[in-house]
Amino acid sequence: MLRAPRGTNDILPPESHKWACLELLLRRLSKIYSFEEIRTPIFEYTELFSRTVGESTDIVRKEMYTFRDKGGRELTLRPEGTAPVARAFLERGLDRGALPKKLFYLGPMFRYEKPQAGRYREFVQYGVEILGSPSAYSDVEVILLAVRIAEELGLMGTTLYINTIGCPKCRRVHREDFVKHISGRVGEFCPDCLERLDRNPLRILDCKNDACRRATADVPLIRDYLCDDCREHWVTLQDSLRSLGLEYTVDPTLVRGFDYYTKTVFELKWPPLGAQDAIIGGGRYDGLIEELGGKPCPGMGFAVGVERLLLAAEKGDKPLAPDVSIDCFVLFPDTGDKRVTEAGFGLLNDLRCSGLSSDFDPLRRSMKAQMKHADRLKAKYVAIIGEEEIEQGFITIRSMEHGWQKQVPAGSVLDFMKEAVSGGTD
Ligand SMILES: [Zn+2]
Ligand SMILES: [Zn+2]
Repeated sequence: MLRAPRGTNDILPPESHKWACLELLLRRLSKIYSFEEIRTPIFEYTELFSRTVGESTDIVRKEMYTFRDKGGRELTLRPEGTAPVARAFLERGLDRGALPKKLFYLGPMFRYEKPQAGRYREFVQYGVEILGSPSAYSDVEVILLAVRIAEELGLMGTTLYINTIGCPKCRRVHREDFVKHISGRVGEFCPDCLERLDRNPLRILDCKNDACRRATADVPLIRDYLCDDCREHWVTLQDSLRSLGLEYTVDPTLVRGFDYYTKTVFELKWPPLGAQDAIIGGGRYDGLIEELGGKPCPGMGFAVGVERLLLAAEKGDKPLAPDVSIDCFVLFPDTGDKRVTEAGFGLLNDLRCSGLSSDFDPLRRSMKAQMKHADRLKAKYVAIIGEEEIEQGFITIRSMEHGWQKQVPAGSVLDFMKEAVSGGTD
């Protein structure tokens, strides 16, 4: 038997209903917050990610699905969504249109990671990006949407962590002091951190190693080095969050190690998820578009794993409750009477044309077998058509939920069903 590749997932019903339900929620919220959808290709030139995500990150070093196509081009299945959006923004000239441009994406990403419970090599991400706005109010807007998503899923007690990582200007001074501080006590750090010291020193703050954490307890913090512009941005962000009554915690260890990440970084955490409790993370990337060869253009956004949101939703106060039932099952056994077949198919078609979800048994089995089938499909109503019904010109309607059964004149059965499904007949 052929099997699916390691790290992939088949999403079957009824699970797929929950996916659809969550995706609908994300699309609805995107609309409410006025973000428009962008769909970028599943694969891009490898260089897009090595340049933006960064050569020294785990993603680029170990986790990309990179291949050569038949034309010898070096391509990569997208491991994240921001770089492709920025690439399209620039390539399609959106930077010359009305700004800011507010975009969202929802689709599969690919990373060659060790598969674990709930973590796949193909996974789905939702993300938003605001391009062309340097304003701290855009940061606030992105954070508000993240918080709203958690609220809509009934995730009570989330904590918002924010930090500022300044800009290349103010970071240069900080970096010198930071590296000096760490270099003075290299013996206390793990090999990973020592490697980061050259490439990406701020990432040392990310290390989960206890010894490294202790050794960084008194490192110089960027927030003490901010230039005027970065300080004003940081103050405006916090003032706005406070005025909206949004509680937050400043976490100086929340960092991103690359030059095009600037100013605001944030994470929304939800403790019931356990050790990996971050559900949504994002930040500002004012240097990214320039890195891709464009004129300087600020950006701000977040990304969230849909698998992770589903996992959280299961534990939240508002579990996703998709409707997995159908409105009507048309039951017309094979009696050998052509009129039964015609009437059955006719009603099925009428119901579907009226927008009522309906089904039937193509095998035309016995009444009892079809009743069972209707039950498995969670039909709200069953419309029964047999020879007796044809002779007397009515159709028997049974409510599966309430147990009643009625004989309805064939000519008015469609109206009757529409009324019943909309809640009028009980
Ligand atoms: Zn600055
Ligand atoms: Zn370390």
